[in-house]
Amino acid sequence: MIKVEIDPRSGFCGGVIRAIGKAEQYLENQPRLYSLGEMVHNEAELERLGAKGLISLQHEDMARLPAGEALLIRAHGEPPATYAKASGLGLNIIDCTCPVVLRLQESILEAHRRLEGSGTIVIFGKIGHAEVLGLVGQVGGDAVVVENAAQLKEHLRKGDIKAPVELFSQTTMNPAEYEEICNYLISKGIALNAHNTICRQVADRHRLLADFAKGHDVIVFVSGSLSSNGRVLFELCRSVNSRTYMAGTVADIDASWFRPGDSVGVCGATSTPKWLLEEVARHISTLS
Ligand code: SF4
Repeated sequence: MIKVEIDPRSGFCGGVIRAIGKAEQYLENQPRLYSLGEMVHNEAELERLGAKGLISLQHEDMARLPAGEALLIRAHGEPPATYAKASGLGLNIIDCTCPVVLRLQESILEAHRRLEGSGTIVIFGKIGHAEVLGLVGQVGGDAVVVENAAQLKEHLRKGDIKAPVELFSQTTMNPAEYEEICNYLISKGIALNAHNTICRQVADRHRLLADFAKGHDVIVFVSGSLSSNGRVLFELCRSVNSRTYMAGTVADIDASWFRPGDSVGVCGATSTPKWLLEEVARHISTLS
């Protein structure tokens, strides 16, 4: 008999719930809504929203939309250039940027003004990630993005980073790695103004998810393959529980992962819908 428990804290974060709610509300009265980039990094949820009329498109496709169409900006946010382009094309923006990301964008802009060209904005984040592009776009690209301490050291060695440093983080990064970056800058005596901008919901989840993963024999981590937060949280689970497996949907579940009597924890990223966690948990229960 396999015992299955769903992590009560897994499921969409507030920013994603808000964005999906706005999209669904719009689609109640309209046949379609274009989303700039995928609304949420979860294929199963995208399929559900697609059936209601949500269509994902990329930046290069914007110019093909007729004026007057609605364009959704997702929770990750966008740089100012995107707003300018959409407004030039006569598109109606439905702005679903998460309020936490909006505050972060504003803080970066303020820090950039404060520096007056005499220091460096450093962003700990994933190069090319939509949220990071939105952050860097606030300051016209005048920021250094590092994905880890090794990249920070390399930029310091090449002289790309000048003191004082205003340090920010993409909202979904690993708090322990952020601290490592801070500590390295401090150890080098670099004047630092560190803004820990990791989203509280994400930071709390790191701590509580590790406890959840330790408390079960097997962890099934449910996430879309494109979710950056999903990869970070999956690795976190695997670091404390070697029997951690990733599944996008029920179809990825392999019965050989489980042994009789196992206690199985089902959890997911901030982009994993609750209904999918429940579906996966139900399926695992039928395997015993
Ligand atoms: S993880 Fe936090 S900052 Fe990012 S969208 Fe969700 S609530 Fe907003």
